Amino acid sequence: MTNVDHAEVAKFESIATRWWDKESEFKPLHDINPLRTNFIDEHVQLAGKKVLDVGCGGGILSEAMAHRGASVSGIDMGEANITTAKLHALESGLNIDYQVIPVEELAEQHAGSFDVVTCLEMLEHVPDPVSIVKACYQLCKPGGQVIFSTLNRNPKSFVLGIIGAEYVLNMVPKGTHEYKKFIRPSELGSWARNAGLTVGDMAGMSYNPITKTYKLGRDTDVNYLMQTIKPA
Ligand code: SAH
Repeated sequence: MTNVDHAEVAKFESIATRWWDKESEFKPLHDINPLRTNFIDEHVQLAGKKVLDVGCGGGILSEAMAHRGASVSGIDMGEANITTAKLHALESGLNIDYQVIPVEELAEQHAGSFDVVTCLEMLEHVPDPVSIVKACYQLCKPGGQVIFSTLNRNPKSFVLGIIGAEYVLNMVPKGTHEYKKFIRPSELGSWARNAGLTVGDMAGMSYNPITKTYKLGRDTDVNYLMQTIKPA
């Protein structure tokens, strides 16, 4: 039994040829990518760090972190996503180690190996997010950091994250997200603490439909990032 919702992964694989098309379904990820890469870089200083990107998809974040000088490995359970990621890294001249493997399995093989583990926009797509959080903790070196991002769960995130993004603005395909799988910061924080992580900084990414831009700030009502630290 693996902790994978194959229907969820299939949704991403069905559009896997478009991961790097900035006008595609993946436009929102491209738009938020500099903001979240900056957030990560500010907290972990990416240059020279050994980083694991969990649920890396086509490698949008993995490549950005490699460009900042990190040595990056990426894992995803979608074969087609990894194929796209590998091809694109080759085109970009980046050396990124991509693999299809469950994070729990990698954690058994390579516990304590990474300075930084990132798991962005992925927890809300898995059957058991708590198990993913634990595996990220295991993979991280003592003194290292695990960075998560996901969608908050409240009436505003339902309206903006699902109705707005999927039905009004058509930013992502209908059915991309399921409200009940959204995760409150308090929940993610307690899963992280139960795994042994300390919760650090948090930031929100909010979308302005008029200017069509995102900004990083204190508003964590919809999309948010959470920095956690594995005690040394
Ligand atoms: N983290 C990337 C992609 C987010 S999309 C980014 O933010 O740019 C969510 C990704 O999670 C998809 O590529 C999907 O295939 C992957 N995924 C879903 N369930 C997974 C699982 N159990 N293990 C690994 N990856 C998973």
